[in-house]
Amino acid sequence: MIATCNCEHEYQDESYGPGRRVHNKTTKRVGEASVYRCTVCGAEKTN
Ligand SMILES: [Zn+2]
Repeated sequence: MIATCNCEHEYQDESYGPGRRVHNKTTKRVGEASVYRCTVCGAEKTN
């Protein structure tokens, strides 16, 4: 999925918009929410 992240990546800025990064769903969950990981910096988030 595409979500916002703080990391810098010129190509993804051009492809998806400033600050928007490809995220992969992980097998982790926080309560009801699935955890996603930024493919650029590896940050995990639950949005
Ligand atoms: Zn990131």
